[in-house]
Amino acid sequence: MKKITFVLLIAALMSFLTSCEVNWFDKQYDVPWWMIAVPVVILLAVTWFFGGKYIASKEYVCSKCGKNFYPKWWNAAFSVHINNDRVFKCPHCGRKGFCSPSKKSKD
Ligand SMILES: [Zn+2]
Repeated sequence: MKKITFVLLIAALMSFLTSCEVNWFDKQYDVPWWMIAVPVVILLAVTWFFGGKYIASKEYVCSKCGKNFYPKWWNAAFSVHINNDRVFKCPHCGRKGFCSPSKKSKD
């Protein structure tokens, strides 16, 4: 249900992205949709990458077995979170659930 809403929202946004008129010192240009979409996608990818790297630099503690682990950055970037607790799959026991960050971090 949530995915359908998301897809419909993207489809609605895509319909606005057909082309765009830009006025630049009395001259009018037609800017194709990809000149707007491509930088937005690149910006999102860069944000996702560095956000994931930042989150993955912290060590998390499994709430079941109590062992510490570093999450993979691509998992960290899309992980569900409440405050600092994030949903990860523990590499030691395989439990998937909320993990709190440990006090120390990788430098
Ligand atoms: Zn565990």
